[in-house]
Amino acid sequence: MKHELLIDQLEQRHSLSSEGYEQLISRRTPEVAAELARRARVECERVYGDAVYTRGLIEFTNYCKNNCLYCGIRRGNASCRRYRLTHEQIMACVEEGYDLGFRTFVLQGGEDSETTDEWLCDIISAIKGAHPDCAVTLSVGERSTESYRMLRKAGADRYLLRHETANREHYRKLHPRSMSYENRMRCLRDLRAAGFTVGVGFMVGSPFQTSADLAADLKFIEDFSPEMCGIGPYVPHHATPFAQFPGGTVELTCFLLSLIRLIKPTILLPATTALGTIDAAGREKGILAGANVVMPNLSPADVRVDYELYDNKVHAGDVAAECKEDLEARMESIGRRLVVDRGDPK
Ligand code: SF4
Repeated sequence: MKHELLIDQLEQRHSLSSEGYEQLISRRTPEVAAELARRARVECERVYGDAVYTRGLIEFTNYCKNNCLYCGIRRGNASCRRYRLTHEQIMACVEEGYDLGFRTFVLQGGEDSETTDEWLCDIISAIKGAHPDCAVTLSVGERSTESYRMLRKAGADRYLLRHETANREHYRKLHPRSMSYENRMRCLRDLRAAGFTVGVGFMVGSPFQTSADLAADLKFIEDFSPEMCGIGPYVPHHATPFAQFPGGTVELTCFLLSLIRLIKPTILLPATTALGTIDAAGREKGILAGANVVMPNLSPADVRVDYELYDNKVHAGDVAAECKEDLEARMESIGRRLVVDRGDPK
């Protein structure tokens, strides 16, 4: 089928066959990408207008028990300087963020055994108690069914857990034997059952990834229908087993952002930090391809360099206010505005 017909079909039915997605991805041209991005922008503006939502990202621990082969804070990286923020330090980040206009805080960390349910529930309650008008998003990995229930009950609103890949075999190549595709999917189902607004996601251009894998990711997004989806280019980290693999591209990431926007027009879709890392204008390109969320860093400047999931992460070292101002100017330059809003899905 011709590309134009596939895009028409996607726009109208929000669905394509796996073969259709694969064809669009593997035979894409700059012209097709530009048309896809144009239609994705129209859909995004129809739902969200010119608003771009911000999330204040607090990377509170870089301890992790896992050893994902692509990740710079994996357990096996002995050169990583580890840190863990205290309750008080996290609350200080929240206060600073609130004053800057953030109304969603994302607590992100590795799978740290010290991040107990009790400790997390306590910090969630403290944030919600101090700022009932704010949303709390968690990004703390795989946990038990009961844990997810408790965290939701404590007031957490949203949960980000990238599925990483919808192909079992590919999942196995990216992760150690101690982790499984089945458990990742179990977690995503549990999060939904617990009542979270759920985010999935994957790296674009990760080692061994094929166009068929990406088509499977898009079919997974169609079927699971998450409220949020975080995708960014794979960026290699020098101290991982995948250090020598090439990174993903801004071009393919933007193409996929456009496809995801057309699959689910209401989805909350960030232009990720990884996009801004490999291209100075990466986040603007992401927004122009259909994204509508940015996630500036609120972590204390002295630990930011240590939360290095990949090399040369953008904004490591800047203060939060500068990050926000910089993003504000970037969004204005493309006719968008950062808004003071929880940024719930519509
Ligand atoms: S990707 Fe997440 S779970 Fe895997 S090693 Fe990194 S922080 Fe840990």
